Amino acid sequence: MATRVLESRFEHLSVNDENEPADGAKYQKSKMITTTVSSSTQLSQNASRANLLKIALQNQNTTSTIVSVPSRTSQWRASRTLNGSGSPPMKGHSVGGAEIEEVAHERKSMYEQPAPKVFHLGMFEIGRPLGKGKFGRVYLAKERSSGYVCALKVLHKNELKHGDAEKQVRREIEIQSNLRHPNILRLFGHFHDSKRIFLILEFAGKGELYKHLRRENRFPEWKSAQYVAQMAAALKYCHKKHIMHRDIKPENILLGIHGEIKLSDFGWSVHAPSNRRNTLCGTLDYLPPEMLKPGRDKNTYTNKVDLWSLGVLTYEFLVGEAPFEDTPVMTQRKIERGEMTVPSFVSPEARDLIKKLLVIDPEKRISLDEVQEHPWIIKYCVKGERAAQRESKSTGSRYSDE
Ligand code: ATP
Ligand code: MG
Repeated sequence: MATRVLESRFEHLSVNDENEPADGAKYQKSKMITTTVSSSTQLSQNASRANLLKIALQNQNTTSTIVSVPSRTSQWRASRTLNGSGSPPMKGHSVGGAEIEEVAHERKSMYEQPAPKVFHLGMFEIGRPLGKGKFGRVYLAKERSSGYVCALKVLHKNELKHGDAEKQVRREIEIQSNLRHPNILRLFGHFHDSKRIFLILEFAGKGELYKHLRRENRFPEWKSAQYVAQMAAALKYCHKKHIMHRDIKPENILLGIHGEIKLSDFGWSVHAPSNRRNTLCGTLDYLPPEMLKPGRDKNTYTNKVDLWSLGVLTYEFLVGEAPFEDTPVMTQRKIERGEMTVPSFVSPEARDLIKKLLVIDPEKRISLDEVQEHPWIIKYCVKGERAAQRESKSTGSRYSDE
């Protein structure tokens, strides 16, 4: 009954998405709500999120397409399958030290309070700082009327101007606000005052992946495989929408509360209607050979650039450092030649995947579909973590050098 009301509330909402393929790959909002909301707590969480979304959508001033909201439950299910944690969705998060409980009146607010037309700072209760970026700070925040916990990224206009980054932020907003995938950080909306731009982002409870990698030195095979599988899912979604990320590295990946991947930082990404671009950007260590040698391939490259970077990322998860790390000149030389060695403690299956991704000819790189079906991914993401660990122990030789 409550679900029906929620569904009908969503029917008139809209998101513009000119890049959505017409092949039925859209998330159908109402369907997802019907199939995933099963308890009042979950409904309450979805209602809070929905309310925020409703405001976000009104803020976009668009009227004519379909809304997609992967529910928290579906995200939890996805992360559960992939990380094996099995933990239930969190009830609330902490803002400024106070625990926020999802309570009944929040559900009420969904139906009874008229949603504001535009976002403004007063709508948010600001909590602790989550981090500092090049152009501003990120704070934990709670949207007052819905109780929805999010992250508020505050960018200073004059700094953006001096840093020549206005275009980058515009691109980040345009692209990220149209992406809806459990492994991609949501951008719910934005607003500004005379001095600042505010981005309303999904809160990634476990912070930067990079910090986890530094703390653990390197990730075990099961964890690396599960991260790579989630990255492949996120990239497949982007590529389907003709978006290449172009700046994949651990610093640009956040982790959700259940440890699931949340790809972010779409500042360098591009809508590529023709699927080919010719600008040099990104970080050297992760750059594919075709982007380093602009003279080649008629100055252009395709979304295969993200597959190379996924190979670098896979290596870095398992080894603790990027494969071509050196002085800038040497790094460039090594990348152009595909010169790297995989240490002997990396399993043959993982080594095989790395080698199939770090292929100089972009067209010969393994595809994202093939990544998802690679034995190393299947072993840790389909068979289940425990079975894979048992299997690894009984076949210790798998971890020796080939
Ligand atoms: P830039 O994006 O400008 O290149 P950056 O990635 O270093 O710089 P921000 O994206 O502004 O900086 O984020 C700064 C820090 O805040 C991040 O490193 C991360 O720790 C934290 N942070 C950012 N967004 C979120 C979020 N949505 N949830 C949780 N923490 C976040
Ligand atoms: Mg960032």
